[in-house]
Amino acid sequence: MQHSSERCRAFRRRILDISQKVTAHIAPAFSCLEMVDVIYHDLMRPQDLFLMSKGHGALAQYVVLESLGKLNLVEYCAGSLGAHPDRGGPIEASTGSLGHGLGLAVGMAYAEYLKGSDAQVFVVMSDGELQEGSTWEAVQMAANLKLDNLVLFVDLNDFGGLDRISTWHPAVYPVAEKFEAFGWDANHGNGHDADDLRNMYWTRPGDRPFALIGETVKGRGVSFMESQNIWHYRSPNKDEYAKAMAELA
Ligand SMILES: [Mg+2]
Repeated sequence: MQHSSERCRAFRRRILDISQKVTAHIAPAFSCLEMVDVIYHDLMRPQDLFLMSKGHGALAQYVVLESLGKLNLVEYCAGSLGAHPDRGGPIEASTGSLGHGLGLAVGMAYAEYLKGSDAQVFVVMSDGELQEGSTWEAVQMAANLKLDNLVLFVDLNDFGGLDRISTWHPAVYPVAEKFEAFGWDANHGNGHDADDLRNMYWTRPGDRPFALIGETVKGRGVSFMESQNIWHYRSPNKDEYAKAMAELA
């Protein structure tokens, strides 16, 4: 069986291929790939739901869904799938406005609870979204409603689209302690280590909403893209593409 790290190397190559055809937000997708892969591959059951709150992580979700045969990236290249997730098919909600995804997920998790379903709602959120007030309203509501079926992965790569969070918004830290202060369970680990992510999930206490805070590197996997925020928006030229692909061979 293929290990998560092998799958994610192939996913990174696929995203680079896409970037040669159409607009791609490479670095924010690379930082959350292992999280998205672990959620879909190891944690989700058929009844569970997934919401990609960090819209610029869309390609991470798309390539994982493509590998599962649930989506065809030809649609993305043809323009019928957005650079942010578009609702439809396996995509639960259109997202990308910072700080809106968690509120949606709280509603989804509460609806599942009211239906008597045992479905869980998995969310991947950026650390840029921790700067949004709406995120913390949703965090409080999830605690009020005791949503033990809500599992949040925070992609802690220390960058927003335009800035470094520890420089411009350092009050975001420490993150896990904030979730705990708001009535959640939280754990903190390596967001690129599939074993670490799975262990954090399987050892969760289980009776409160749960946040997995994964430390990640924006642009992870290609040396000249790592922690270089220009790759949030830029696509590689032919030489850069060849160099990146060689690193991921
Ligand atoms: Mg970030």
